[in-house]
This record gives sequence, C-alpha cells and structure tokens, in this order.
Amino acid sequence: MTLRRLTTCSSAATYVLERRSRRRDRVYDYVLHTCVRHRWLADSWKGGSRVVEEGELRCGVLLEYRGFAEVLRSHSREWVFPLTFHDLEDDHQGDVVGWLRAALVELSAAGREAHEGVRAALGHAVLAAVVEQDPKVAEAAVLTALAVAETAEAAARGA
Ligand SMILES: [Zn+2]
Repeated sequence: MTLRRLTTCSSAATYVLERRSRRRDRVYDYVLHTCVRHRWLADSWKGGSRVVEEGELRCGVLLEYRGFAEVLRSHSREWVFPLTFHDLEDDHQGDVVGWLRAALVELSAAGREAHEGVRAALGHAVLAAVVEQDPKVAEAAVLTALAVAETAEAAARGA
C-alpha cells in the first residue's frame, strides 16, 4: 500500500470513495477520503462513495493498493502532466527516469519557485530509481517520493 494525499486540507474526512479491485490478490484498488468541501476531488476517481463518521483520517488521504505501473500512470495523469506537460506513456514511452528528469527540467524554469518542494521530492524519486539496486525497494521509494511531490504540488496550488 502507498499513502497519497491529494490536498493539504486539515478537515477530518466524512466521505469515502472505494474502488473495489477485480484482482484476487487485493480487495481495493484505492480508497479516497474527503471532507464535504473537497468532495469534488473524488470526481475523477471511479468507485462507490458513502458518508463516514469523522475518524483519524484527514481529507485527501488516498490509500493506494494498485501496482507500481498503475500508480505511476495515475501520478502522470492526475498531476505531473497537468503541471509539466510530460506524460509517462505518451511522451516518454514508460521510461520512468526520463519522465521524471524531464518534469524536473520543466519545474526548474524561471517563475517556478512555488514548486521548490515538488522539485525536491521529484529529485528524490529520480535518485531512488537510479541508485537503489533492489527493484522492489526502488519502486517503493519512487512511489513514496512521488506521493510527497503530489502533496507539495497541492500545497503550491493552495489546494
Ligand atoms: Zn477538505
């Protein structure tokens, strides 16, 4: 499981959207929690939603159970492409390091100071992908760094 956070909203989650998996090895593809005000965040995510009691989870928490390739495509579609115009598949044919480096170059351009946190986290993702020898450890580190970058991007937008 990878933790993602789609907003820096501090409200408790009162809605949950659950995408059940068709695979035998997991129950869910992902579970997204939002508050009332951010319920629109779930609009682009498929699944059934319901009201839940306020609990420990904050708005924007996304419990991600999908595999590495699927989660990378999700990051590409949800925020890396809208931010940098670099898509993992269409522009980089699935080359993760090439895609992340191109996104970093885009974010290093003038006027992108607000994305310093995103750049730092993307830099960690590149480093993890290049340096780590164990592929499973590298994948987990890349997804963690991308999740941090995603939340930093939301913060830079004021979301
Ligand atoms: Zn919220």
